[in-house]
Amino acid sequence: MDGPKKYPFCEIDQEECKGCGLCVNACPAKVLELSTHLNSKGYHPSGYKGSGCIGCGSCFYSCPEPGAITVYLKDYVPEGV
Ligand code: SF4
Ligand code: SF4
Repeated sequence: MDGPKKYPFCEIDQEECKGCGLCVNACPAKVLELSTHLNSKGYHPSGYKGSGCIGCGSCFYSCPEPGAITVYLKDYVPEGV
């Protein structure tokens, strides 16, 4: 995603994701999708479409891979700021 990020938003680590699709199905806003490209492990990773996230956290709680999904809420303060 390029440019300033609009909160809330979701980031998915492309190398941690195993492409199971649980987050895609869990997202009530339908703003996640499995990509067409493969990561280095041979999975089609999930990704954020770039807008429309409501910060509900359903994707985070549905994901079996620790660390694959991060949801940033509007009060998120980047480290070092
Ligand atoms: S936090 Fe909720 S709305 Fe945002 S991507 Fe995850 S499931 Fe979808
Ligand atoms: S639930 Fe986790 S492992 Fe499964 S597609 Fe989504 S980010 Fe990837």
